[in-house]
Amino acid sequence: MTEVQTANRIPLDDYAAVIGAGEIEELRALARPLQGRRVEMVNSTAVGGGVAEMLNRLVPLAEDLGLLFRWDVITGGEDFFQVTKSFHNALHGAPYHPQPRDFDIFREYQQRNLHRLPLDVEFVIIHDPQPVGLIEDRTNGKNHWVWRCHIDLSHPNPTVWNFLHSYVSRYDGAIFSSPEFARQLPIPQYLFYPAIDPLSEKNRDLPPEFIANVLSRYQIDPLRPILTQISRFDRLKDPLGVIRAYRIVKRYFDCQLVLAGGSASDDPEGAQVLKEVHRAAEGDPDIKVLELPAWAPLEVNALQRASSIVIQKSLREGFGLTVSEALWKKKPVVASAVGGIPTQIIHKHTGLLAHSVEGTAYQIRFLLSHPEIAARLGERGHEHVKENFLITQNLKRYLTLFLSLGGAV
Ligand code: UDP
Repeated sequence: MTEVQTANRIPLDDYAAVIGAGEIEELRALARPLQGRRVEMVNSTAVGGGVAEMLNRLVPLAEDLGLLFRWDVITGGEDFFQVTKSFHNALHGAPYHPQPRDFDIFREYQQRNLHRLPLDVEFVIIHDPQPVGLIEDRTNGKNHWVWRCHIDLSHPNPTVWNFLHSYVSRYDGAIFSSPEFARQLPIPQYLFYPAIDPLSEKNRDLPPEFIANVLSRYQIDPLRPILTQISRFDRLKDPLGVIRAYRIVKRYFDCQLVLAGGSASDDPEGAQVLKEVHRAAEGDPDIKVLELPAWAPLEVNALQRASSIVIQKSLREGFGLTVSEALWKKKPVVASAVGGIPTQIIHKHTGLLAHSVEGTAYQIRFLLSHPEIAARLGERGHEHVKENFLITQNLKRYLTLFLSLGGAV
């Protein structure tokens, strides 16, 4: 069993400076009937990727409100994570011809984890497809099980989705990140936006000297434009497409490109993609490919803050937390119009959307030559995140969900 210890606590009252004391009061009022009640969150990695990022902040905040949370990570061998990564890509629409063995591997690891995890608390929240089969453990219908899906299910591979559907339909409800991701299901569906923590190490203000230090450590020139994409090295994040867009921009602007990413323990493809990225970047000292440790929030924060433009050129995306992180820092963002990104980037209002390498390059060039428009997009982006994508709103949704499922006892 792998219970995750979350990052350091930040008192809930500290958030009053960002969202106002009234919102904090509302959270406390919602949490009052939930004092001492137990919640178990289960996902497949403790670091790397947006789900771990959110749980790391959500769990201590909920505990500050008096709920008893635990966060567990399922364990699996390489064979399991190969299968779940293929499922993940296939659910995002990639071609995949599953073999019966793949489903056997998936089932086998669900069974192994069933024996390791408690899963007996009042509210069990299972994140994403990897642990979805734990619902098998639901014996008596006494506790509440909700599936929290973070990926774009709008065009799933039918074989994989049919397989998962048999599990998902046994839950009490399913949570999606965008209305377009919802599927035909016999259970209630809820819309929860993913969210960032404005006070976490990833997003809080940083002293300029710290940012300057990070730039100098990675030999990035602060005086020339910096284009940045922060992402796991994953084909669906299209790092090679980012390099191609940068090369177009480079004909017109003497800019630098930072591709920074770590890995996630549930993503076996990262090393291969990183190799391809190194090969594509070879010979250009202005492309910095940074392999970050899986947990390096302050470095990520500094790189985002130092950027002239933040890029998120994903081919498919669940939500893309990196977009909200950049907008919170008032950065102009150029991102692909996929998955949950258009919820965050309202084109020409909170950032610019693109649909191709050429489109991405075009929007970057536009922003580099119109700094006042870039600054305005960043300002509006910050407000948009403040209104919609902060962890306190996410927490409020969970509290409301628990109240509606379990009522006040
Ligand atoms: N991230 C990070 N270090 C990295 C790459 C990504 O801390 O090297 C973080 C990033 O800041 C964001 C999350 O991981 O908080 C990625 O979430 P997103 O929704 O953008 O993508 P996912 O990886 O979940 O597909």
